[in-house]
Amino acid sequence: MGIESTGCTEVQQSGSGTRANIIPENDHPIRPGDLDREALKVLYRLRDAGFSGYLVGGGVRDLYLGKQPKDFDISTNARPGQLRRLFRNSRTIGRRFRLVQVFFRGNKIIEVSTLRSQSEYGHQDTRVLPANNTFGTLEEDAFRRDLTINSLFYEIDTNTIIDYVGGVSDLNDGIVRIVGDPDVRITRDPVRILRALRHAARTGFTMDQESFRAIVTHRDKLNLCPSSRIRDEIIKDLVSGFSRSWVELCIRSRVFFTLFPFYDQPASDEDGMEELDAILTVVDRLQEHGKDGSMHLPDYMLMALLLYPWLQRELHLLQRELKGGGYRLLFNDIRQALDASICGRLNIKRSGKEAMTTLFVNMPNIHRHQEKGDWPKWLKKKSYFKDCAKFSAIIAEARGGTAVNTDLFAGPIRPDEVQCANRHGGGGRGGRGSNPSFTEKKGGIFGLRTSRSSGG
Ligand code: ATP
Ligand code: MG
Repeated sequence: MGIESTGCTEVQQSGSGTRANIIPENDHPIRPGDLDREALKVLYRLRDAGFSGYLVGGGVRDLYLGKQPKDFDISTNARPGQLRRLFRNSRTIGRRFRLVQVFFRGNKIIEVSTLRSQSEYGHQDTRVLPANNTFGTLEEDAFRRDLTINSLFYEIDTNTIIDYVGGVSDLNDGIVRIVGDPDVRITRDPVRILRALRHAARTGFTMDQESFRAIVTHRDKLNLCPSSRIRDEIIKDLVSGFSRSWVELCIRSRVFFTLFPFYDQPASDEDGMEELDAILTVVDRLQEHGKDGSMHLPDYMLMALLLYPWLQRELHLLQRELKGGGYRLLFNDIRQALDASICGRLNIKRSGKEAMTTLFVNMPNIHRHQEKGDWPKWLKKKSYFKDCAKFSAIIAEARGGTAVNTDLFAGPIRPDEVQCANRHGGGGRGGRGSNPSFTEKKGGIFGLRTSRSSGG
């Protein structure tokens, strides 16, 4: 790839003149044994076949920080066709940027992508770019990534980290910085706003000032992105265990009011969002508790919890009388409120909307019994009881009541469970989609709606 190891920490990348910082083994904490077996197998197979292979993205970031990565992504100079021949148990996904998923036992998937260039620069061009144009050098691949801390390559043979963008110093200094000119990078793909806020929330790092300013300036461009992509990103943050800091950052940058415009913008960051803050504190504690897979909160419940303070304010859920026509009335009010707030905007599946409605409409009853601490038999027999009791328990704790009994939530995800999003729908990563940056849907490389001007 034109990189020569000189034994010192800085070498010249041939071609473009950008200097890559090569961090030798002794100066970083990552060891081959930190990678999982399957990722190692892929890297060694690539090497044995004469290709270069690198651990990239969140895998390098998390290992550097001493955390367990969620997934191990690999980049290589091998083309998708060569990868398919090299890994027989694999498949190609993605239309514009093909990515190879290598399958291992136990449903394990390692995603291998060919190094690519910033083909997004051609995104005004509506013609399909020839496939060759998308492949790039290691350097180009570093510069097309979202954040400096996500743009590092770990090379297994020399046990070095290759850094073109200053990602290592940002990891050391605790800074989240968008790669390149943040105004341009966000305009090209506004979802990078959410990715930057996510990683600042998860790491507790400080947001680089320029990046933060660009986020605030361009936040409304998120409205140009496909709604399902935004929905999937929001769900990732709700389940992350860092939802409270995520919302805090979203409020600080005003991104929150772009995503959820029905929440009034408070005069100051501290105003008006205390209830949501308290709810998410409980949610994050439960997520931490269920990290081992012993329990989980379904996405429609998390979405409903996010909406609760607003809906309670709008509809006075807890105070509603259900007798007479009260139940029907409340039911209709909730359906209307959900349609007007998020269901259309975020392309929530009908079953997700129904599940949220069930949680809200039973709230008055469940809440009253929960306060008294008695559950009548007829209520316990209802199919909705368990879910509604969990939902209400979280809200009760957030309102200063007793701590949630985590046994209520025990049990792993059920295959038939209702989801807000199609579990294998596009827009996500891995099994959920083919490519992190690029939607496969028509309408521009990023699927940005072009009917409204993005202004950038
Ligand atoms: P996580 O721990 O959530 O997996 P991650 O950073 O690995 O975090 P992925 O969605 O797995 O996130 O993406 C892998 C890598 O792909 C990122 O680290 C980043 O380098 C790159 N990437 C993802 N989305 C974008 C984007 N919208 N623009 C540019 N690069 C992106
Ligand atoms: Mg990842």
